[in-house]
Amino acid sequence: MKTYGHFIDGAYVEPLKGKWIDSFNPYTGEVWARIPQGCADDVDRAVAAASRAMREGPWATMNASARGKLMLRLADLVAANAERLAEVEVRDNGKLMAEMLGQLRYHPEWWRYFGGLADKVEGAVMPIDKPEMFAFTRHEPVGVVGALTAWNSPLIFVAWKCAPAIAAGCSVVVKPSEFASASTLEFAALTKEAGFPDGVFNVVSGYGPEAGSALVDHRDVAKITFTGSDTTGARIYAQAAQSLKRVSLELGGKSPNIVFDDCDIDAALAGVISGIFAATGQTCIAGSRVLVQNSIREAFSQRLAELGRSARKGDPMLPDTNIGPVTTAPQYRKILEYIEIAKAEGARCILGGGPATSPDLPGGQFVEPTIFVDVTPGMRIAREEVFGPVLSILGFEDEAEAVRLANDTLYGLAAGVWTTDIGRALRMSSALKAGTVWVNTYRAVSYMMPFGGMKRSGLGRESGVEAIREYLETKSVWISTTKDVPANPFIMR
Ligand code: NAD
Repeated sequence: MKTYGHFIDGAYVEPLKGKWIDSFNPYTGEVWARIPQGCADDVDRAVAAASRAMREGPWATMNASARGKLMLRLADLVAANAERLAEVEVRDNGKLMAEMLGQLRYHPEWWRYFGGLADKVEGAVMPIDKPEMFAFTRHEPVGVVGALTAWNSPLIFVAWKCAPAIAAGCSVVVKPSEFASASTLEFAALTKEAGFPDGVFNVVSGYGPEAGSALVDHRDVAKITFTGSDTTGARIYAQAAQSLKRVSLELGGKSPNIVFDDCDIDAALAGVISGIFAATGQTCIAGSRVLVQNSIREAFSQRLAELGRSARKGDPMLPDTNIGPVTTAPQYRKILEYIEIAKAEGARCILGGGPATSPDLPGGQFVEPTIFVDVTPGMRIAREEVFGPVLSILGFEDEAEAVRLANDTLYGLAAGVWTTDIGRALRMSSALKAGTVWVNTYRAVSYMMPFGGMKRSGLGRESGVEAIREYLETKSVWISTTKDVPANPFIMR
């Protein structure tokens, strides 16, 4: 069994209180590693190292081009270690190797993209309206960044947060999810190998209310960037307000996948399946509310159920597995609870509807892919995030009703639209209140495309050029070019 250390100031160190957390393999149900249980003192140590790196030493004076080159080197190292890191993620979170390896092979592009952007952050000389003044802006790193991540895609979240932060010149302390910290702890060594000065990239593992909360409270942390549930996000937002920290939040969703009767049905079926059963439904962008035009609803639902029934559950390491285990025990219980709630509320189950049990599913944390029809907009299954392979199908008559139902949610992370009518595609992409709208596709992301939520799905954007702004402060510099003393020092200049 592997025992990890925190990664602080360029080295692995033991937790100060000498406590550890067992990390379970969700497929086998067995403990496979121990991660440090960080406390406020561990966080303090990491933040001190990160602050020192910002203040003194090579990072404080390194120019942006040199930062970018280190990031390119890190990208190559991740690419060379993609398979090993993906295996660690699968062992920790039970998602499919095909999915995690795809993410790890794509991960380096964030370091390349933001590494290239590092030396293109430019201030401006203002055509200032006041004579005898020279005025310009500078964009400076915001300071030490605390990054809190979720368990479903640990290293992709590290890339989304840390690549723009480091390109901006910040140093970071990452607190990964206690359910899946190993890959982030392994990744840390690559930052050292790439040549990043000590203290630029630190990882403290541990529980949210202990290590995570200490990071949010720490007075030397300037910015918190968080991926997780809306409940925790709201708590962190309020807590960070005490010290007026900058905050970005990537939260959950109840994303609608909207199927019009003029769509390419086979493509829509594949898109809906990928939206809800990929990653065992454990993705923030899960298309968990499918709105189907009434004229095709019955037939479409039946075909979805057939496809869902053919999905293979099993060992996430095997290439032909479609559905792996649920990552955490609390999440497993929550999914089963929602299935019971849906039944009690009168939704009709046409597929699955309970735990999946068979001798070849050893860990016991498998849920049958589940589809509910006759779902009405007021039901909890239509409103609340389940974060599992549970789909609700609702019907609609026309475009106006589809928009109304789709936007009738507290969330606004993503939406899918299936239609062959280009005019409708454009109308829908404008009417939907979601940070991402996919038309005739689903679950596409890129390092160059902004990603984030509206409403209760979050604050700020990750990826794309504008993401670097989340880690910069603008400073306005005024220089008087006159030797004259102001006539009246008591009035504004
Ligand atoms: P979570 O909110 O329980 O935990 C997220 C992180 O916050 C973890 O590192 C956790 O340890 C930490 N944390 C928990 N309580 C804390 C506290 N009081 N103070 C500080 N930190 C604390 O979320 P999760 O269960 O790990 O992930 C699932 C959720 O994440 C889902 O709601 C999902 O939709 C969301 N998610 C969002 C995105 C996105 O990009 N929008 C991506 C993936 C997951």
